[in-house]
Amino acid sequence: MIRAIFPGSFDPVHNGHIDIACRAARIVDELIIAVYDKPLKDFVFSPEERLALVREAIKDCPKITVVGYSGLTVEYCKQNNIQVIVRGLRVFSDFEYEFRMALANHRLVPEVEVIALITSEEHTFLSSSTVREIASLGGDVSTMVPDFVVKALNKRMAELNENRSITPLMIRRD
Ligand code: ADP
Repeated sequence: MIRAIFPGSFDPVHNGHIDIACRAARIVDELIIAVYDKPLKDFVFSPEERLALVREAIKDCPKITVVGYSGLTVEYCKQNNIQVIVRGLRVFSDFEYEFRMALANHRLVPEVEVIALITSEEHTFLSSSTVREIASLGGDVSTMVPDFVVKALNKRMAELNENRSITPLMIRRD
């Protein structure tokens, strides 16, 4: 029985994430999408909101569950009997980052393997930061995220605009 984890910030979840999760779920027995809270990042959505949006996105996939976590991914794997970390790859810069992370994680916990799935062609450009930036400028993200994420983004951007605190959110890259 292979248990895998797909960790990420998911701020917010988008179609590229959902595609990777569904494809990974076809090749493992159980997939856990793990939503983490990076203290160094300035999130648009709270951990609870990001969890709720991911849960809604995969509600029809019986093999996938969603959890929140903090700390080292490999520690979470050890504690929860997870053998595989799933990641998605878009461009060469992703590869370099994921390559370094995979080697570091392997040094920490050699039993945990990393599987990286190549993005589907139509999602190559897609990132949460692109979605956030377009939404913050009033653009249409409906081809990039599910409907309920569009609604959540529009609501949050209106709130942020009212508070005039939008600039730091646009410069964060993921
Ligand atoms: P992180 O902060 O870990 O990078 P993200 O939510 O940005 O969290 O991404 C989670 C995972 O999803 C990462 O492995 C990332 O490379 C992958 N990913 C993000 N966007 C895409 C996409 N368009 N296609 C495939 N994988 C993607």
